[in-house]
Amino acid sequence: MHDLSEGVARFQRDVFPGKADLFARLATTHRPGTLFISCSDARVVPELITQREPGELFVIRTAGNVVPPYAPGADGVAASVEYAVAVLGVGDVVVCGHSGCGAMTALAEGHDLGALPAVADWLRHVDAVPTRDVAALVRANVAAQLANLATHPAVARALAARTLTLRGWVFDIPTGSVTDVDVPTDVDVSSPVARTPVHQ
Ligand code: ZN
Repeated sequence: MHDLSEGVARFQRDVFPGKADLFARLATTHRPGTLFISCSDARVVPELITQREPGELFVIRTAGNVVPPYAPGADGVAASVEYAVAVLGVGDVVVCGHSGCGAMTALAEGHDLGALPAVADWLRHVDAVPTRDVAALVRANVAAQLANLATHPAVARALAARTLTLRGWVFDIPTGSVTDVDVPTDVDVSSPVARTPVHQ
């Protein structure tokens, strides 16, 4: 905790003064252009990877960058997706997986999640073709979550209106590289084979 307090003191002393105008503007304005959905993993830092300033990314982080398919009822992920797309009007959504993902490793290697019932329940939303290849599962999961995202009504509406672009990424921790994951053709409205992007 002491380290965090020291970090805050350093931020206030060394960083904030140089960004005072930005924060003054942001005090009354919230217009991020991108909804960035990544894993909660501490090694994946959206603003660092994309070199964005405060105010530019609306971020949702979940175990395994999972977005459950839309279902009625209270759901923090669904609420954040809806707010970002329907109220803030983001133009892009990025779902970003990463190398060495603990959640994907547990699934690929069939770890016993008996002592982690919440994790086990959450990861049933991965819904990608099972494989023992962690890297392949990371990529397949990004595609599966893009498809899940398209089941959310606000996202489906924005895709149909062509005001929203979906992107899939995988961040490689040891090299810092980012590679694209194709958006599934049934949710990619720019694809010639696209169909209505609402499916269950
Ligand atoms: Zn992860």
